[in-house]
Amino acid sequence: MNQPWNLEKITYKVIKENFYNVAVLPIGSIEPHNFHLPYGTDAINAQYVAEKMCEKAFEKGAKVLLLPTIPYSVNDNMREFPFAMNIYQNTLNQIITDLIEPIERAGIRKLLILNGHGGNKFEAWQRSMLNKTKVFIAVMDWWAPANKEEKEIFEGGGFHANEMETSVDLVTVPDLVHLEDADNGETNKTRFDAINKGWVIIAPPWHLLTKNTGWGNPKKGTKEKGEKFLNIVIERGSNFIKELSDAKMDNTFPYEE
Ligand SMILES: [Zn+2]
Repeated sequence: MNQPWNLEKITYKVIKENFYNVAVLPIGSIEPHNFHLPYGTDAINAQYVAEKMCEKAFEKGAKVLLLPTIPYSVNDNMREFPFAMNIYQNTLNQIITDLIEPIERAGIRKLLILNGHGGNKFEAWQRSMLNKTKVFIAVMDWWAPANKEEKEIFEGGGFHANEMETSVDLVTVPDLVHLEDADNGETNKTRFDAINKGWVIIAPPWHLLTKNTGWGNPKKGTKEKGEKFLNIVIERGSNFIKELSDAKMDNTFPYEE
């Protein structure tokens, strides 16, 4: 398979013969996903979507290079569940900060972080990097391009091991999905209306919020829904990568001239 956009699979010779101006860095997570999805769900799906987006963007002419996926993420609020592998946000920020050095030295000035885990928050770090690197840092949750369609395609709601994630896993790793084992993903309300309505934000201790880590009813997940959702995500994401690759980094970048 010829994948000149996939760093993990190509040689130095291919790197020398090609020009790249956008790097894509997927970030996964290793944590329990109700009783029916694998621990690696977020890492598997971030990588799957990143590969599809980069392949498509490359075909459209983007000078994109996919970096290997960081498998671990921020899970300290899931500590009551075994093997919810946690690295702290500061550690994750530092790993990416370190990785930006070789990216920058190789001449790349645009980085898209393809986040696969809702518990990661990069905005404060992005601000702190504005004056520390020449690399433009953009962050996208891999599912975000189809935020609107997500509510139309899936009826089960929720955010973790829900109908959306189940449907996507049925596309990416169908053999690892055990839908018959799933509970219904019901979550507990807090005693505060303000928190339940979402205008006061807390970091929810996952063992108090959920039964078996799932948030959202996964039972109506299907491969067809997963494909429909992924197609929208991949089409929009690859278009953005192409635009990013084509954009000139002049004085007003990323704003209009
Ligand atoms: Zn997940």
